[in-house]
Amino acid sequence: DALPLDEVDGNVIRTVKRSVFSESQPSPLKEPLTLAAVSQDVLRNILDLNESVIQNEEFVRCVSGGKLFPGSVPLAHRYGGHQFGYWAGQLGDGRAHLLGEYTNRKGERWEVQLKGSGKTPYSRSGDGRAVIRSSVREFLCSEAMHFLRVPTSRALSLVVSEEPVWRDPFYNGSVIKERGAVVLRLAKSWFRIGSLEILTRTGELDVLRTLLDFVIKEHFKSIGTNDPDKYVVFFSRVLNETAHLIAHWMSVGFAHGVCNTDNFSLLSITFDYGPFGFMESYDPNFVPNTSDDEGRYSIGAQANVGLFNLQKLLEALKPLLTSDQLSQSQQILREYPQIYHQRFHELFKAKLGFLGNEEKDSYVIAFLLKLMEDTGADFTMTFRQLSEVTLSRLQKGSFAPSLWALSDLSSHKHFRDWVQLYLQRLSRIMSDSDEERQHRMQGVNPRYVLRNWMAESAIRKAEKNDYSEVTLLQKTLMEPFMEQEEAERAGYASKPPSWAQQLRVSCSS
Ligand code: AMP
Ligand code: MG
Ligand code: MG
Repeated sequence: DALPLDEVDGNVIRTVKRSVFSESQPSPLKEPLTLAAVSQDVLRNILDLNESVIQNEEFVRCVSGGKLFPGSVPLAHRYGGHQFGYWAGQLGDGRAHLLGEYTNRKGERWEVQLKGSGKTPYSRSGDGRAVIRSSVREFLCSEAMHFLRVPTSRALSLVVSEEPVWRDPFYNGSVIKERGAVVLRLAKSWFRIGSLEILTRTGELDVLRTLLDFVIKEHFKSIGTNDPDKYVVFFSRVLNETAHLIAHWMSVGFAHGVCNTDNFSLLSITFDYGPFGFMESYDPNFVPNTSDDEGRYSIGAQANVGLFNLQKLLEALKPLLTSDQLSQSQQILREYPQIYHQRFHELFKAKLGFLGNEEKDSYVIAFLLKLMEDTGADFTMTFRQLSEVTLSRLQKGSFAPSLWALSDLSSHKHFRDWVQLYLQRLSRIMSDSDEERQHRMQGVNPRYVLRNWMAESAIRKAEKNDYSEVTLLQKTLMEPFMEQEEAERAGYASKPPSWAQQLRVSCSS
């Protein structure tokens, strides 16, 4: 109610003025519809629903845009953004509909959104749809990130339809017929840096202030609404949390793929899962998105891109700041590298099982990463296998085939030097047993992440109406820190198959 609504009706594609949302009706997908996947955790623990609701015939329509929840006024959000470094003007929810908000038993307020639910005023040249492959990836990865404890949007359901959707998946000029799918996704808020940027760019400063005050009141409860410096405090919070989020991404080897300001949340959660990737062989230049020719959003560039995006946030806030507040904010911006490095350091120390602080810790971490880079050792499994191996085995330096990542790493001529430093560092931790260290490390170093080849294998089956592997991945990734028999049999902790290297993901979705 508090936010300005576009007065023009209908899904006519257009430039919208002086509004934060437009009313827009979802376009139902061609039936029959299949409920391909459901997150029981979201169903129960966010939406307070019982497992039996999914048996209800109406459920699949409600979660795919064919039937509205009572009282729902579906909205598409108007936002802009910097794409690949350049201001792109109005973007907005071109294929998403906000269905409403839900406050659950725990008192948490969640915003419920459909993605792939048809055209809106913001669809530009798009068809408002999402295909099976990108929807499977978003569904699986957002849930997986949650269970990796990385702040993220969530996904309740994945519905697959017979709706024909035309795409050029490899951008090579060959358009193929795919099928439409809808993900019902949730976040505490879907506002992003681009939500504010567009208002500043168009000079709608009253709307900017209204939206910002709304976001602060709803989501930054500890900031006083009458605090004269509230926008500076807000900026400082977003900066902190964004630095922490990116450090967290790095600690699990996650590359978002499209770090545009319209994909950067004001609540610093991971969202908009497109051509993301989990890094396999350690490589700071890893680029998950084949459409990103220049590697602007390589994994190692993410920290700097975060800074760029925060600069854009500050530019959006600027008209509301006094000159004193602006210089304070610029000072805060200068603290970003330090905040990022501090969190990165803490996370990687935990990954190595260190307790307390030693001067050389950064060196030990950087040394290991260099060995991984030189040998192309698998990022996830190097840390995991360090968590599973005994220290005496590590000292001996000969590894069974099951310790394949360590085996790759140990081919480095300085491997033994690093092991000596590492063992000495661990030996100085008072009253620490090897079991305790392993336990600690296994709790932060996942055995399973959503590797591209795993998603791809599940997608190929899903496109043939077999969702068994989507289900297996979903189940596996709910407990990424626990060794699981079925997952082991599927090879999810094994050396990636050779065909994995040829896999490419583009922006086509
Ligand atoms: P993304 O690269 O996914 O962040 O999307 C950038 C913009 O393109 C957003 O405004 C999306 O809503 C819009 N968009 C992406 N795909 C489609 C589509 N198939 N139809 C309409 N809009 C789309
Ligand atoms: Mg986006
Ligand atoms: Mg997207």
